[in-house]
Amino acid sequence: MAKKDYYEVLGVKKGDSAADIKRAYRRSAIKYHPDKNPDNKEAEDKFKACAEAYEVLSDSDKRARYNQFGHAGLQGSGVRDYSHMNVQDIGDIFGDMFGDLFGMGGRGRRSSAARPNAPRRGYDLETSVELTLDDVAGGTEKTIEFTRQDNCDQCKGSGCQPGTTPANCPTCGGSGQVVQSGMGGFFQMASTCHTCSGAGKIIKTPCKTCRGKGRVSKKRMVTAKIPAGVHQGQSVRITGEGEPGLNGGPRGDLYCYVQIKAHPFLQRQGCDLVATVPISFTQAALGSIVEVPSLKGPRELKIPAGCQHGDVFRIKGQGLPDLRTKRSGDELVQVLIEVPKKLTKKQQELLKDFEQSQSSSAMPKTKDFFDRLKKYFNNK
Ligand SMILES: [Zn+2]
Ligand SMILES: [Zn+2]
Repeated sequence: MAKKDYYEVLGVKKGDSAADIKRAYRRSAIKYHPDKNPDNKEAEDKFKACAEAYEVLSDSDKRARYNQFGHAGLQGSGVRDYSHMNVQDIGDIFGDMFGDLFGMGGRGRRSSAARPNAPRRGYDLETSVELTLDDVAGGTEKTIEFTRQDNCDQCKGSGCQPGTTPANCPTCGGSGQVVQSGMGGFFQMASTCHTCSGAGKIIKTPCKTCRGKGRVSKKRMVTAKIPAGVHQGQSVRITGEGEPGLNGGPRGDLYCYVQIKAHPFLQRQGCDLVATVPISFTQAALGSIVEVPSLKGPRELKIPAGCQHGDVFRIKGQGLPDLRTKRSGDELVQVLIEVPKKLTKKQQELLKDFEQSQSSSAMPKTKDFFDRLKKYFNNK
């Protein structure tokens, strides 16, 4: 059976934030949890499918692979097989995210679940910035536009329609926790309140702008300072430009991943730049001054007489700076000798004369090759 689209499974959109996906998963997990749907195979299958979708979409690396290549992109990336897992095990994997939501109080809980109102740092965000080799050579500043979750202006992030206030949660009385006794009262166990998810408050009249979420997607522009010598795939971190924290926690960070555009003539090799330049066989034989590309535009390079196919010439200091030392690499120009594909009658005559006039010592490689060939087969 073909796998369903993970975004469809969770009912989210491709551009939704990590926080949106987490909320969507939480909703679906509650809805389809086998405790709430006893003997309902369909609900159980949905519950498992949601867990798998959440594992992928909550992991930025797996999510990027899935966005680019679909299900095929996740082969070998270690996504768990939920269809063969029992519900208890799935609860163990995600249990700490929900406190004792699944009736597993105490098992594997971490401090965030035990203290639901504790300040929590916001999620980090990722974006990419495209650079040219010129940008890499000199370093640059780039304006980056991205979308992030921000507090709703209408309700100042409270989620309540202006003029209304949140009410104390009727289940927990505002503490965010419910206390259960076990073993005939021998011990007590505090767990996160189901009704308010630990917030202690419930919103009676949700804000119309954000539908009670307290957050809305907003476009934002920031300037990223890109250092000279940066490499493809490296990231520049802009502190405090991620999503807002919870309960007064700090914002996450924004990571700008560097994408370097291909240059039509220059390839990067560490700090060096490599160019290949075709020259004619007469230029190679006679020596010549040829025009070669460089980051600062075309420049002249002197090719000595007798230059060979594949020879590399080094232009000192014309490469890219090292990210740390800022010392500049070189430009390496490799020449490719091109032999004419068409000759006029007159050129053929000239070259035949040239061939006859040529002494074997002028072509040491050819001479050596045929000498060795003759010797080898004569001795056999
Ligand atoms: Zn609002
Ligand atoms: Zn409550």
